[in-house]
Amino acid sequence: MAETYEQALQREMAQANVTVLRAGEYRVPSSSRPGEYYIVTYAGRGDEAEVALWDCTCPARNTCKHINLVSGIVNNVNDEFGYE
Ligand SMILES: [Zn+2]
Repeated sequence: MAETYEQALQREMAQANVTVLRAGEYRVPSSSRPGEYYIVTYAGRGDEAEVALWDCTCPARNTCKHINLVSGIVNNVNDEFGYE
């Protein structure tokens, strides 16, 4: 049976140790502080490639590696499923 978009997203996020909390909300472990997590959220709808619409709870002021990680996975899965 073919994998759904949500299943593919869950699988690829899990491989990167990212937990999908709900649509557009992801929990990413801190690489420098074991046991700590940051919440990465997507504020827009539709085009999740729009990096400016992502937010993260970590101290970095600019687009951080957590946003890059999560948005990169979303973009990969979107590509797999032929989404723009
Ligand atoms: Zn971050």
